[in-house]
Amino acid sequence: MIELKSSEEMDEIARGGRIIAALYREMQTRIVPGVSTGELDRFAETFITDHDGALPAFKGLYGFPGTMCCSINEEVVHGIPSKKRVLREGDILSLDTGVRLNGWCSDSAWTFGVGDVAGAVVDLLDATRHALDRAVDAARAGNHVGHIGHAVESAVRGLGFEVIRDLVGHGIGRKVHEDPQVPNRGEPGEGPLLQVGMVLAIEPMIAMGTWRIRTLSDRWTIVTADGQPSAHFEHTIGITEAGPRILTAEVSPGAASDSTTSRGSEQLRGTA
Ligand code: MG
Ligand code: MG
Repeated sequence: MIELKSSEEMDEIARGGRIIAALYREMQTRIVPGVSTGELDRFAETFITDHDGALPAFKGLYGFPGTMCCSINEEVVHGIPSKKRVLREGDILSLDTGVRLNGWCSDSAWTFGVGDVAGAVVDLLDATRHALDRAVDAARAGNHVGHIGHAVESAVRGLGFEVIRDLVGHGIGRKVHEDPQVPNRGEPGEGPLLQVGMVLAIEPMIAMGTWRIRTLSDRWTIVTADGQPSAHFEHTIGITEAGPRILTAEVSPGAASDSTTSRGSEQLRGTA
């Protein structure tokens, strides 16, 4: 069952979402060669709990031990933060973070380059971020869930990258994972009808090589089957009368509201 949220409830979700956006802004200067994902995770937990008594929503979820999923290079999602995982120049690091505030959850992911990153990898990051922008723009009442996946696929078609097929976005609200599933592929008109009040976590994961994945022996970390890099960008969005509203964005000074996007808008305000 898909639960619809009021605009006041979306405001609550956006309060938590802004904490993730602010965290990722902080991370831009902290993600450098020589730092470990364990150190970054410890910073993130303190940062979140220092804001309005928010809680890390992933810690303990299904038994996950960290505040953030920290996935390096070929790791797609669910990497476990560790002091033993030290970043090196040229790596990419995908952070995925959930926040719970006043009982409402928000979820956002961002892939960061570590120092100088190879041009082909920068292209992968740009393509994935662009795919998220297009997918968010497709999240409009009257469209279907399939429009979102179609937008992701269309955005990366012809670039030589592949959409990770077996991992999906999701509804979100009181729980991190709610109905519906939001695949990163599909056709317009497929899947549930999008309605005002839906809150969705849209999260393209795009691989440089194969879309096939496997899970490491730690039973958490999901990697590409061919060991090539993968990128992940995610926003929690609410569907409003005025279009998709990004709930995991920072408010820019003077902005009337977070970021309701107009149809055809290419530039959405990011989290980092
Ligand atoms: Mg996430
Ligand atoms: Mg998610």
